[in-house]
Amino acid sequence: MSVDAAAARAAAEAAPSWTPSRDAALARLAAFAPLSGPHYARTRNFDFGPARRDNVSMLSPWLRCRLLLEEEVLDAALRGAGLEGAEKFVQEVFWRGYFKGWLEHRPDVWRRYRREVTDLVAAMDRDGALRRRYENAVGGETGIDCFDAWSRELRDTGYLHNHARMWFASIWIFTLRLPWSLGADFFYRFLLDGDPASNTLSWRWVAGLHTRGKHYLARADNIRRYTEGRFYPAGRLDECAQPLEEEIAVEPRSMQLPKKEGGAIPAPAGLLVTEEDCMPEDEALAGVQPVAAAGLSCAALRSPLPVSAAAADFAQAAVSEGLKRIEAVYGLPCERIEPGLTEGPDVDAVRRWARAQGLSTVVTAFAPVGPAREFLDRLRERLTQDGVLLVERARRYDRVVWPHAPKGFFGLKKKIPAILQDLNLL
Ligand SMILES: Cc1cc2nc3c(=O)[nH]c(=O)nc-3n(C[C@H](O)[C@H](O)[C@H](O)COP(=O)(O)OP(=O)(O)OC[C@H]3O[C@@H](n4cnc5c(N)ncnc54)[C@H](O)[C@@H]3O)c2cc1C
Repeated sequence: MSVDAAAARAAAEAAPSWTPSRDAALARLAAFAPLSGPHYARTRNFDFGPARRDNVSMLSPWLRCRLLLEEEVLDAALRGAGLEGAEKFVQEVFWRGYFKGWLEHRPDVWRRYRREVTDLVAAMDRDGALRRRYENAVGGETGIDCFDAWSRELRDTGYLHNHARMWFASIWIFTLRLPWSLGADFFYRFLLDGDPASNTLSWRWVAGLHTRGKHYLARADNIRRYTEGRFYPAGRLDECAQPLEEEIAVEPRSMQLPKKEGGAIPAPAGLLVTEEDCMPEDEALAGVQPVAAAGLSCAALRSPLPVSAAAADFAQAAVSEGLKRIEAVYGLPCERIEPGLTEGPDVDAVRRWARAQGLSTVVTAFAPVGPAREFLDRLRERLTQDGVLLVERARRYDRVVWPHAPKGFFGLKKKIPAILQDLNLL
């Protein structure tokens, strides 16, 4: 290994602390970029354990709330290794946009997931056996050592390696026979990068519901190989289970993404920052001179069950970071709208802020399917009653990538070079 490669590896190996700041995100990107080519392609499937993560970027918490952009990550990888060298990493980054676009075409899948979680949480009050099996799984007390370790790692760190997420979800569904949506909810409550699209659809993919009939079965030999022998659950896993099935077919609808300008902006306009986009100054605000800004996090709305303090704090702090930059760029009064501990942010608090600032328009970055979308839909209804317009601005990246995601990933994958050219990244 060259001195440069060794230095890059040492820098990337030091696990990031996920400080919710753009500086921390850029520092991690700089440390990982030299490893995003052949090193990533060769080693990315290994889960070496929480103390050694030089083989993956660990950028997902920052990407999730857009303290770091997909274009920036793609650009850094392409500059270092070119499209051929960084092909695997580039594809993984596009999986994120693929899932976002896919769910945007099928919001009913999200709504059904939400209903299922609510019903199952209520069912656990009546069904003591289900509750005990669930509590053993989330408490890391199933007796399957790898599963129990990942359960604890998720609760302790807010992160799991991609392969561990796949094994964990598979064991949850096919060996422990627990409902997939309760597992997705557990992840969503604890992951710092918890994302309605990537999380829900990955769980459905493992179950065999995303690509119908094709499920992901965790196998003891595979776990032994890719954990370098840290775990070997021989004889403990159901390696022959059939994929799950569901009756309802989900046809894609046309997406509701705002067009380029996202509508007229009657002045005075105020900016609302959510954890969907903590860098709204570059695109959401193009051509707008806001007179005030406010920020809120919808993390508490992820689940009917409590969201982990680490995930909620990360989202809150990311929004505060976004507001800090808006304050610096525009010199505006910025307000943080505090969420209720369980019920999430208050629509009326935003109305009061808009009224106090005398706003005609509230501008915000487009929120894709998920809790922030649900919140904005409620907010729009109430603001309209007050005669205030809610305007959403979608990023160019999303407008370019998501339309290629109505079906399978392959459809998007073959368009990657053309998309990168369109984004001026090639
Ligand atoms: C059951 C399950 C649940 C998941 N839940 C989430 C989630 O809530 N939020 C989330 O961001 N990712 C989720 N993923 C996808 C993936 O596991 C994480 O994005 C990845 O592990 C994050 O670590 P990293 O940044 O080191 O990834 P890297 O391997 O370094 O990849 C770089 C970036 O590409 C994107 N990416 C990589 N793999 C995937 C993938 N399979 N799907 C979507 N995007 C991907 C992420 O933005 C990631 O930061 C889930 C996967 C599974 C199997």
